[in-house]
Amino acid sequence: MRKQVLKWKQKGLSVALIPTMGFFHEGHLSLMRAAGSKADHVVVSLFINPAQFGPNEDLNHYPRDLEQDARLAEDKGVSCLFCPDAKDMYPPGFQTWVRVEGVSQGLCGTSRPEHFCGVATIVAKLLIIVQPDMAIFGQKDFQQLQVIRRMVRDLNIPVNIIAHPIVREPDGLAMSSRNIYLDAQEREPALSLVQALRLAEKMVAQGNRSGPEVIQAIKNHIQSFSNTKTDYVFLGDPESLKPRREIVGETLLALAVWVGKTRLIDNILLKQ
Ligand code: AMP
Repeated sequence: MRKQVLKWKQKGLSVALIPTMGFFHEGHLSLMRAAGSKADHVVVSLFINPAQFGPNEDLNHYPRDLEQDARLAEDKGVSCLFCPDAKDMYPPGFQTWVRVEGVSQGLCGTSRPEHFCGVATIVAKLLIIVQPDMAIFGQKDFQQLQVIRRMVRDLNIPVNIIAHPIVREPDGLAMSSRNIYLDAQEREPALSLVQALRLAEKMVAQGNRSGPEVIQAIKNHIQSFSNTKTDYVFLGDPESLKPRREIVGETLLALAVWVGKTRLIDNILLKQ
């Protein structure tokens, strides 16, 4: 990977990295298109990172289809699909972890305490291996994006981090590799997330600035669907991820909801 990137750089060509866990959908493909329009070469990493899964999470069932992913990436003009093995990324004796503090806490960090340490460590490794000019991340994983931004600033990693908007299904459901877990009956309750975000947007547009009221309305909406369980609803500063009680300026609204055995996340930036 290093040799290939060096060859490109010696020719003065720019490189964009898109870290992924594969099982590509339109969200991933949209990141690839954006990267292709910004850089001469696009590297997509495909690594199902064991370090970011908790002990009772879906590491072993996480969907995979390497052949299809390779076809899709090639179609999108990706120069290199980088698929390292876990034993190469975490060889025996591995003992260095990157832990980003404040922004890793709360939201998904509460129910997934080691998740962002696994994410920050693997992304740091990928950035050091590939040494791209830019790396692109989806806003679907908003907290992940802020953890990476903080890490890049704190560790002086010379890369430009670019955020890409959330890509949705026609019915509004945020695209995710995990949507494959949803059965026909779970599809409707899965829409409660985007509906709740839109409900909040409407409340704010009508002049409601009360965080607790908006959060309660969201919880009520989600609860009205069978088979749902709210993990969290968060309102706060989009950069520091500190909670806010009042919706002022640009405010992040993020939520995680269990639909049956599948945990879904979604978010929106509320603007006054
Ligand atoms: P994943 O393979 O799920 O780890 O995602 C790889 C990258 O694609 C991350 O930067 C995600 O935020 C991004 N991504 C995943 N789903 C979407 C989506 N629906 N819209 C935009 N970006 C996404």
